[in-house]
Amino acid sequence: MSDCCSVNAKSGSAPAVMACPANGGRSKRVDSLTVKSLVRKLPLGMPNTQYYFCEASDCEVVYFALDAEAPRFRREDLVVRVGLVVRVGAKETADPIPICYCFGFTRQDIWEEIQSMGKSTVAQRITAEVEAGHCACEVKNPSGKCCLGDVTRAAKDGLRVVQTKNC
Ligand SMILES: [Zn+2]
Repeated sequence: MSDCCSVNAKSGSAPAVMACPANGGRSKRVDSLTVKSLVRKLPLGMPNTQYYFCEASDCEVVYFALDAEAPRFRREDLVVRVGLVVRVGAKETADPIPICYCFGFTRQDIWEEIQSMGKSTVAQRITAEVEAGHCACEVKNPSGKCCLGDVTRAAKDGLRVVQTKNC
């Protein structure tokens, strides 16, 4: 990347993972559409650069750019919905921890289902909606990614918790 004057904002030229400038956490690329949709007030003249999503729960930075001069966005910079700042699931440590932003499933929903039925059907239900083209993860999920991986992980954690409780 010595050819710095010809850098373009196309994802292809930016590294897939960057270290968060605040806590050094591994952060993946995020589409600029996601950043633009979820940041409440975009600064004027924002440079056209690749943004990254820091998912560390102990870090206030949500989005930072490849270009160190570009503005960083913190949790309080994100859009407000029904009077609340959007809860960035990966950054929350207390319920409700949102997991699926399109259909509003929280970690609690998944865990409660496991507690009462012994398994979670949330992933299947979301998959059906995704296949029907009803999801909008790129503009609703702060990570800009499909939530299914996180849903599966939450279900696994839930199963583990329920099993330990029952022993
Ligand atoms: Zn961070």
